[in-house]
Amino acid sequence: MEFSGKNVLITGSSRGIGASIAKRLATFGLKVWINYRSGEAEAKSVQDEIVSNGGEADIIGFDVTDEGAFMDAIKHIVSTDGELSYLVNNAGITNDKLAMRMKVEDFVSVIDANLKSTFIGCREAVKVMSKKRFGAVVNVSSIVGETGNAGQTNYSASKGGVIAMTKSFAQESAPRGVRFNSVTPGFIATEMTDVLREEVKKAFIARIPLGRFGEPQEVADAVAFLLSDHSSYITGETLKVNGGMLM
Ligand code: NAP
Repeated sequence: MEFSGKNVLITGSSRGIGASIAKRLATFGLKVWINYRSGEAEAKSVQDEIVSNGGEADIIGFDVTDEGAFMDAIKHIVSTDGELSYLVNNAGITNDKLAMRMKVEDFVSVIDANLKSTFIGCREAVKVMSKKRFGAVVNVSSIVGETGNAGQTNYSASKGGVIAMTKSFAQESAPRGVRFNSVTPGFIATEMTDVLREEVKKAFIARIPLGRFGEPQEVADAVAFLLSDHSSYITGETLKVNGGMLM
């Protein structure tokens, strides 16, 4: 895959899946914009690793739930590089509890971080990309957005919303030359899943045909494919990256 001369913003790329996506895309010649909310030092170490491997990376810290900050960030990228070629809406959070104990604030904060932020990013991206009639967006959803999950009514609603919203953006934006797709990772080994108890991890692994959690770079490879010209006839798709857990 070759992306020379293009750039990409990856939200939430200071660690976990986002950091892997940033490192992977940089190896294909993309200039990478690393975003974080609080982990500035972690973002810097992702940048250092990319640069020491011969890639190009810049850091842009902002909270994806802040509409004005997200819009300013995209403006800054366009004024610096002349365009935003690709966007990966990856930043996300969980706040798990049984629905009957979930406050509306617990619900809304996850919707804001995962779904509202993705809407803002997609809306701003299509404005910028359609001017050049070029671009692609990948939204990081989750297997839980397809199946639901006990203890995750807020998270599953946000991720299911991301899948449906991606298809709506794909339909609106196809005539403007911009593609929108989502990936639905299953259980991936990051800090988000590190918090699971060992017996819970074992129970999930027993349900995964490939017999293990996925690695962040395995999600990164799926994202790279969906951004690249190798998927030029694919839009509105939901690509499962789950070791066969849901077929
Ligand atoms: P993670 O290790 O917890 O990393 C989350 C990243 O998002 C961090 O860089 C964090 O930055 C950033 N972030 C969170 N809230 C933000 C905000 N409001 N503004 C800007 N950045 C923000 O998570 P992960 O496991 O890599 O997950 C990445 C994505 O994959 C999420 O959308 C998640 O829902 C999805 N996913 C993960 C799994 C899994 O098994 N891990 C499975 C399916 C889907 P700071 O540290 O600076 O806050």
